[in-house]
Amino acid sequence: LYEAATMDPLTKISNRRNFMDRSLGELALARRSGEYVHTIMVDADHFKRVNDTWGHQCGDMVLKEIARILKEEKRESDLLARYGGEEFLLLLANISPEDAQKSAERLRKAVERHRVSWKDTVIPVTISLGLCSKQGEEIPQIEAMIAQCDKMLYVAKEGGRNRVAF
Ligand code: GH3
Ligand code: MG
Ligand code: MG
Repeated sequence: LYEAATMDPLTKISNRRNFMDRSLGELALARRSGEYVHTIMVDADHFKRVNDTWGHQCGDMVLKEIARILKEEKRESDLLARYGGEEFLLLLANISPEDAQKSAERLRKAVERHRVSWKDTVIPVTISLGLCSKQGEEIPQIEAMIAQCDKMLYVAKEGGRNRVAF
């Protein structure tokens, strides 16, 4: 029952609601301690093409693979959730903006270099990422952090995809 309420059934990572619940404590702690928090919105590039070319089942497999890679590459203390269709959200705490940028770039590279195959075909899979960094008392509500990293995601897409914007 707990899993059904907190987990995304396809990717077996947290769902959006669980992420929102757990982020509240992280944000409150960072506000009090003057530490940084960062949110990263991740979106699969040209994902509609994957579905259109190789089918919805292949698309599902790609989403599972992206979730698995993000889970493997993130630090244990980072929050990760499936935010929507082909979008994932991360929350990182207690690191500098520079290190958060490096982390986002590491995630991007990990997905890019991973070979995803479907019926003897290699499927091109890349992600774009938008990063929002805030510190201490300047940390807004989680919804505002998400809106900001979503804006940066749009910048990453406009800039050509397969990149991090911050
Ligand atoms: P962009 O690089 O701009 O993000 O292009 P895109 O094609 O990834 O973005 P778009 O929003 O046009 O398409 C997203 C697609 O993701 C459309 C939708 O059918 C698909 N999708 C959403 N959820 C799922 C899912 O659970 N499984 C599969 N197979 N596809 C999904
Ligand atoms: Mg999208
Ligand atoms: Mg997309």
